[in-house]
Amino acid sequence: MTRDQPMLSFEVIHSDGNARTARLLTPHGQVNTPAFMPVGTAGSVKGVAPDRLRESGAQMILGNTYHLMLRPGAAVVEQLGGLHAMMAWEKPILTDSGGYQVFSLSHRRTIDEDGVVFRSHIDGARVRLTPESCMSIQRSLGADVIMQLDECPPGCADRREVQAAVRRSAEWARRCKQAWIDAGCLSAGGNYQALFGIQQGGSSVDLRGESSSRLVELDLPGYAIGGLSVGEGHEAMCDVLAATSDQLPADRPRYLMGVGEPRDMLAAVACGVDMFDCVLPTRNGRNAQAFTWQGRLRLRNARWISDRSPIDEGCDCYACRNFSRGTMRHLFLAGEMLAPTLVSVHNLHFFSQFMSEIRNAISRGELAKRSRAWQDALYARNDCENADDCD
Ligand SMILES: [Zn+2]
Repeated sequence: MTRDQPMLSFEVIHSDGNARTARLLTPHGQVNTPAFMPVGTAGSVKGVAPDRLRESGAQMILGNTYHLMLRPGAAVVEQLGGLHAMMAWEKPILTDSGGYQVFSLSHRRTIDEDGVVFRSHIDGARVRLTPESCMSIQRSLGADVIMQLDECPPGCADRREVQAAVRRSAEWARRCKQAWIDAGCLSAGGNYQALFGIQQGGSSVDLRGESSSRLVELDLPGYAIGGLSVGEGHEAMCDVLAATSDQLPADRPRYLMGVGEPRDMLAAVACGVDMFDCVLPTRNGRNAQAFTWQGRLRLRNARWISDRSPIDEGCDCYACRNFSRGTMRHLFLAGEMLAPTLVSVHNLHFFSQFMSEIRNAISRGELAKRSRAWQDALYARNDCENADDCD
């Protein structure tokens, strides 16, 4: 790889403390950061057609390597023209490495220095994932950003286990980089793919420092922060992010994996994080829970039975333009497929608007002030419409 080849470009536009806005340019277009990526687990953002996804303001979406490698399989995705063609999504895509899901299957997998062997949750088949096969699979999927295979230790792991995971993940990053370079940094479809390394280290600042140093030596196009938001709580996550915010280079994108709770994203943006992904908008959408700037609404609640107002008067999404809270409550109770789709569309629109407002606040140097006001509005109410849980 040389610097003359088409690569991921990342240009910081405005800074506000450690927070920044930037332009991330990929072969499938530009992403304005900080950005939130909706999750298309198995080749689809659940219940949301691509035109509605575009209309929601989504700039980049995430595909799950673990799910796609098992079904339909990387070769089939490649035969179908890659993930962009399969999903009818011409904008940027990021695929994870599959490692997080594999390591979540603690009773079904064994790990050694070469990789991990696990049993498919679909048919029990024995599958081996190595840094090299992880790169090969993501090459077939064809995303713009691909992730190294890493070992994500459980939140309860002791220091010795976390340290072993840091060292193994660093070695796997080196092997992923070699495989990526051997493939010309190109997808099976011939597009440039940017490889991101993943920082591990649990809640230990010095182990995260060791992880970062080993990754930065590899000079990768971007870096992710893994192994956070695994049950340690908001305050502990913020402490780790604040203490490690200068460990990853300021001139590369930083991606906090699996985080999408608004207050977590606000804290992470203030520490210089640029990218997020989470199933929250679509999972909550399926469970009749809508995000609004005044807190969350539970649309099954009887109080909406004849309410003709939209989810959010200030929202111009497809759901709010066309449907009332009363209609949506009825659709949920009747088990209509349209109901989860409508609330997912609204929630995705809310997340796009939320990130857009964060970018505006950074560009005006007002992030801290606006963050306090947003958190007061989003979390101050403590009634049954505003529970923090996802379900
Ligand atoms: Zn809406």
